[in-house]
Amino acid sequence: MKYIDLHTDALTKEGVLSVTKETLGTGGCFLECFACFTPRGDLEKTLKLCDKFEKMCARDNFQWVKSAGDLSENRVNAMLTVEGGEAVGNDLKNLHILYEKGVRMMTLVWNYDNAIGTTHKASPLKGEAPAERVAGGTHGGRAVTYAPTAHSERSEESHRLTDFVRGDSSVALFPQNERTSTDFVRGDSSVALFPQNERTSTDFVRGDSSVALLPQNERRPLGLTPFGRDVVEKMGELGMIVDVSHGSDALFFDVADWSKRSGIPFVASHSNARACHFHTRNLDDGQIRTLADCGGVMGLNFYDEFLSDDKTAAGQKRALIAHITHILKVGGEDALAFGSDFDGIPQNAYMKTAADMPRLIEAMCDVIPPRVVEKIAFRNAERVIRAVCSC
Ligand SMILES: [Zn+2]
Repeated sequence: MKYIDLHTDALTKEGVLSVTKETLGTGGCFLECFACFTPRGDLEKTLKLCDKFEKMCARDNFQWVKSAGDLSENRVNAMLTVEGGEAVGNDLKNLHILYEKGVRMMTLVWNYDNAIGTTHKASPLKGEAPAERVAGGTHGGRAVTYAPTAHSERSEESHRLTDFVRGDSSVALFPQNERTSTDFVRGDSSVALFPQNERTSTDFVRGDSSVALLPQNERRPLGLTPFGRDVVEKMGELGMIVDVSHGSDALFFDVADWSKRSGIPFVASHSNARACHFHTRNLDDGQIRTLADCGGVMGLNFYDEFLSDDKTAAGQKRALIAHITHILKVGGEDALAFGSDFDGIPQNAYMKTAADMPRLIEAMCDVIPPRVVEKIAFRNAERVIRAVCSC
């Protein structure tokens, strides 16, 4: 059975690769999405990877897909993507440059906050309330906010960290070293986090600039920044697929709000189910249902850290099937695809290379009707590509 894979880092990795012309041929690949991965990267580095992609397509006889109309039944199709919106910097012009280069999907953030939005590290830890239900936060609108508790309820420690300076709780203090970290907010909903590029107040209250003053009404959500909203809008206009993998829960819901408004589906190109194995990189059930409601897809990731504690081949096979059946149960049969992450992850004991795809598809056919396996293997992803990249 042919398949579509929404994410590989083969373009970035040097040395022996899991995704090659040969393994894609053996695996029966219909379309592979090659990511330009540039952690804290810039436009120049990304454009070099785009050139590498162009050469690879010529060398390996891949069909470069810039529009759904380019899809070929006779060759391996290849789509150019970007992982980490740093390439855009803070200028929409750069998004146009990437589009002109042929990029048709972009993962908005990687493992750092950037000008577009916040990373999964801002998502709640195991056992904590989902982002949309964190104290003081109301989702459903546009934003998740983390409102401070009343001054008198604060412990000595949190008082020290996030003192209110006017006594009326209209402003809060954020030590500089915490302002750009998304970590501390998770364990303590009494403090709020503002990525540095979202800090709108420049009112430093200590001469040493170690803290910044943020009036309450200037607080920003922890998801998309205002610039990030512009990026997402523009991607929709251009016909680039918006990818929320690696994003925070709040970023996910900000994109989902945009998707509902615009009617344009989005993807989580390489993310699994949080209910099966807890990791902030995986999606919780509410996210899976929302993604399905928006007509989007999530690509099953083969990173063993996201699948199960049992890293053996048998354990990973079991985990893959468990994630698949859970996602089908929660999100229905139209929301799941593959997002292997080959060459971006240590080799999985069960799924080593793209040549192993038939064994997974076979294992799926043992427990899932072939009609549904076909949807997961290629029909769902193809539907999104046709919906978004039809210019
Ligand atoms: Zn990734």
